[in-house]
Amino acid sequence: MRETTVELKDLKKVGLKVTHPRKRILEILENQLTKHVTADDIYRSLVIANEDIGLATVYRVLHQFEAAGLVEKHNFEGGQAYYELDSGQHHDHMVCVETGKVIEFVSAEIEAAQQ
Ligand SMILES: [Zn+2]
Repeated sequence: MRETTVELKDLKKVGLKVTHPRKRILEILENQLTKHVTADDIYRSLVIANEDIGLATVYRVLHQFEAAGLVEKHNFEGGQAYYELDSGQHHDHMVCVETGKVIEFVSAEIEAAQQ
Protein backbone atom coordinates (compact mmCIF):
# COMPACT_ATOMS: atom_id res chain seq x y z
CA MET A 1 0.00 0.00 0.00
CA ARG A 2 1.08 3.57 -0.60
CA GLU A 3 2.23 5.61 2.34
CA THR A 4 -0.56 7.69 3.80
CA THR A 5 -0.10 11.38 3.31
CA VAL A 6 -3.30 12.67 4.90
CA GLU A 7 -4.82 11.33 8.09
CA LEU A 8 -8.07 11.90 9.92
CA LYS A 9 -6.35 14.12 12.43
CA ASP A 10 -5.41 16.39 9.55
CA LEU A 11 -9.11 17.08 8.98
CA LYS A 12 -9.36 18.64 12.43
CA LYS A 13 -6.10 20.49 11.92
CA VAL A 14 -7.54 22.31 8.90
CA GLY A 15 -10.80 23.02 10.73
CA LEU A 16 -12.98 20.31 9.16
CA LYS A 17 -15.11 18.13 11.41
CA VAL A 18 -14.68 14.39 10.88
CA THR A 19 -18.00 13.48 9.26
CA HIS A 20 -18.83 10.09 7.78
CA PRO A 21 -18.65 11.21 4.11
CA ARG A 22 -15.35 13.03 4.68
CA LYS A 23 -13.88 10.00 6.45
CA ARG A 24 -14.97 7.57 3.71
CA ILE A 25 -13.83 9.80 0.83
CA LEU A 26 -10.45 10.30 2.50
CA GLU A 27 -10.12 6.52 2.91
CA ILE A 28 -10.93 5.98 -0.76
CA LEU A 29 -8.36 8.58 -1.84
CA GLU A 30 -5.78 6.79 0.29
CA ASN A 31 -6.61 3.28 -0.84
CA GLN A 32 -7.24 3.68 -4.56
CA LEU A 33 -4.88 1.68 -6.72
CA THR A 34 -4.45 4.68 -8.96
CA LYS A 35 -3.27 7.87 -7.35
CA HIS A 36 -5.36 10.18 -9.55
CA VAL A 37 -9.11 9.72 -9.35
CA THR A 38 -12.17 11.54 -10.61
CA ALA A 39 -15.25 12.36 -8.53
CA ASP A 40 -17.03 9.61 -10.49
CA ASP A 41 -14.36 7.07 -9.49
CA ILE A 42 -14.89 7.94 -5.83
CA TYR A 43 -18.66 7.83 -6.20
CA ARG A 44 -18.48 4.39 -7.82
CA SER A 45 -16.30 3.09 -4.97
CA LEU A 46 -18.87 4.40 -2.47
CA VAL A 47 -21.71 2.67 -4.33
CA ILE A 48 -19.77 -0.61 -4.37
CA ALA A 49 -19.21 -0.23 -0.63
CA ASN A 50 -22.97 0.28 -0.13
CA GLU A 51 -22.48 3.81 1.14
CA ASP A 52 -25.42 6.19 0.88
CA ILE A 53 -23.34 9.19 -0.22
CA GLY A 54 -24.42 11.07 -3.34
CA LEU A 55 -22.28 12.45 -6.14
CA ALA A 56 -23.11 16.04 -5.06
CA THR A 57 -21.67 15.27 -1.63
CA VAL A 58 -18.54 13.80 -3.22
CA TYR A 59 -18.01 17.03 -5.17
CA ARG A 60 -18.68 19.17 -2.10
CA VAL A 61 -16.24 17.22 0.10
CA LEU A 62 -13.56 17.23 -2.62
CA HIS A 63 -13.97 20.98 -2.90
CA GLN A 64 -13.58 21.36 0.88
CA PHE A 65 -10.48 19.13 0.84
CA GLU A 66 -9.03 21.16 -2.01
CA ALA A 67 -9.73 24.47 -0.24
CA ALA A 68 -8.05 23.06 2.89
CA GLY A 69 -5.00 21.95 0.91
CA LEU A 70 -5.51 18.24 1.57
CA VAL A 71 -6.00 17.33 -2.08
CA GLU A 72 -4.76 18.70 -5.35
CA LYS A 73 -7.17 19.13 -8.24
CA HIS A 74 -5.91 18.79 -11.78
CA ASN A 75 -7.86 19.97 -14.80
CA PHE A 76 -6.35 18.11 -17.70
CA GLU A 77 -7.23 19.16 -21.21
CA GLY A 78 -10.67 18.09 -22.39
CA GLY A 79 -11.33 15.68 -19.56
CA GLN A 80 -12.75 15.44 -16.09
CA ALA A 81 -10.94 16.89 -13.10
CA TYR A 82 -8.63 14.47 -11.32
CA TYR A 83 -7.93 14.59 -7.61
CA GLU A 84 -4.99 13.28 -5.63
CA LEU A 85 -3.92 13.58 -2.01
CA ASP A 86 -1.45 16.41 -1.69
CA SER A 87 1.89 14.71 -1.14
CA GLY A 88 3.75 18.02 -0.95
CA GLN A 89 6.01 16.80 -3.72
CA HIS A 90 5.90 18.78 -6.92
CA HIS A 91 5.44 16.81 -10.11
CA ASP A 92 4.01 17.18 -13.59
CA HIS A 93 1.51 15.02 -15.42
CA MET A 94 0.99 13.49 -18.80
CA VAL A 95 -2.35 12.05 -19.84
CA CYS A 96 -2.65 9.23 -22.34
CA VAL A 97 -5.09 10.45 -25.02
CA GLU A 98 -6.34 6.93 -25.70
CA THR A 99 -6.92 5.53 -22.22
CA GLY A 100 -7.09 8.70 -20.14
CA LYS A 101 -4.46 7.19 -17.85
CA VAL A 102 -2.52 9.79 -15.87
CA ILE A 103 1.26 9.47 -15.72
CA GLU A 104 3.40 11.44 -13.29
CA PHE A 105 6.89 12.65 -14.00
CA VAL A 106 9.45 15.13 -12.75
CA SER A 107 11.64 16.80 -15.35
CA ALA A 108 14.62 18.94 -14.40
CA GLU A 109 14.47 20.58 -17.85
CA ILE A 110 10.84 21.64 -17.46
CA GLU A 111 11.51 22.91 -13.93
CA ALA A 112 14.40 25.01 -15.21
CA ALA A 113 12.26 26.37 -18.07
CA GLN A 114 9.52 27.38 -15.61
CA GLN A 115 11.92 29.40 -13.50
ZN1 LIG B 1 -0.03 13.61 -9.52
